[in-house]
Amino acid sequence: MNSRFYNITHIFIPIVLVVAIISTISFYNIKNAEHRSDERHNLKQEEQEIKEIQIDAITSFAKEFNISTDDITKTKINKKYTSISYNSPDKYISEIIVTKYKEKADIGDLVKEGKEEELKSLIKEQINLKYPSFIASVLEKDNTTYYYEFLDNGIVIHFDNYQTNPLYEEKTSVKLTCEMINSLLDYECLSNSEENPNIIKLDSNKKTVALTFDDGPNKNTLSILDTLKDNHASATFFMVGTNINNFSDTVKRISDEGHELGSHSYSHKSLLHVKNEELEKEINEVSRLVKNITGTDIKLLRPPYGSINGEIKDKYPYSYIMWSVDPEDWRYKDAAIVREHVLDKVEDGDIILLHDIHFTTAESLKLILPELYIRGYQVVSVSKLAELKGRTLAPNNIYRSFK
Ligand code: ZN
Repeated sequence: MNSRFYNITHIFIPIVLVVAIISTISFYNIKNAEHRSDERHNLKQEEQEIKEIQIDAITSFAKEFNISTDDITKTKINKKYTSISYNSPDKYISEIIVTKYKEKADIGDLVKEGKEEELKSLIKEQINLKYPSFIASVLEKDNTTYYYEFLDNGIVIHFDNYQTNPLYEEKTSVKLTCEMINSLLDYECLSNSEENPNIIKLDSNKKTVALTFDDGPNKNTLSILDTLKDNHASATFFMVGTNINNFSDTVKRISDEGHELGSHSYSHKSLLHVKNEELEKEINEVSRLVKNITGTDIKLLRPPYGSINGEIKDKYPYSYIMWSVDPEDWRYKDAAIVREHVLDKVEDGDIILLHDIHFTTAESLKLILPELYIRGYQVVSVSKLAELKGRTLAPNNIYRSFK
């Protein structure tokens, strides 16, 4: 009996156990499935709600700015925020909303903790990289209104147009790449652009002029260098040899800041009137002095008074650079007159003649450069102008413009 009982128990108990285990597992499976289906349901409902909130936000955005809802783009910023924006040729507007509650948010809500200042200075830095200071100084003010366009390779910051110079009608914006903002903003930004899109490149399709300064260097040259830098412009400096050693730091700075160095003879005598034995020094000494300071070779020569003859031109292998716009700044020592003359006469391909030794010329440059920028000109050195116009500066040749 004992052994039979044992045998039954032996079979029965494991069966009970197996049935119990299977039931428990099934029970939990059913429970889990129910739970998962509930979750799915909730998620669907939430998605639906979010969609409705987004549609609602887009509708009120369209109403507020009097635009069609069809022209509005919505971009998911991260789990919490959505951006809605409108981009047309004449304006850009956008809003960030908290996706779940249809509340308006601000770029400040996306900034990672303690990164506010870093973001501010990044924006200022990029503004100054892209725009000359007469525009940048307006855009970088703390009260400027920014609109943010979220892209998969970064964000574009658009500025309100009316805030810039009233004469400058272009839309203004800077782009921050993923690489720049990944550590600063809570934005799911993935792809990186390789180059900084705010660095402006010279464009051979744009109107371009060359700016040239004769008779320096001199104490006014520094102010001219500052103004060129402020306006993202460059120039060619035709220097007189006797000034070079007294202003060797200035010569170095001209070269370091990407401008071009040219010769304007050693002592500013007319090359047609110097004795033969002096001619070599008048023509080549500036090259030797500049080479000592900057290590670069001089290829351009502007003869004093524009006086040159075929014999000299053929003998010395420089490119001889004349000019096509001459406001006679040495005669009219008045910034307004110089400005007016240049802006009246200037055309694409011109070479403008100025003198960096006059204070009034330095002042006129502050007026001329912003206006050239507004008119769509690039302002460059003589060699750059030739290059952009597809011309080669050959030695023993005379050039007046590249029109
Ligand atoms: Zn001169």
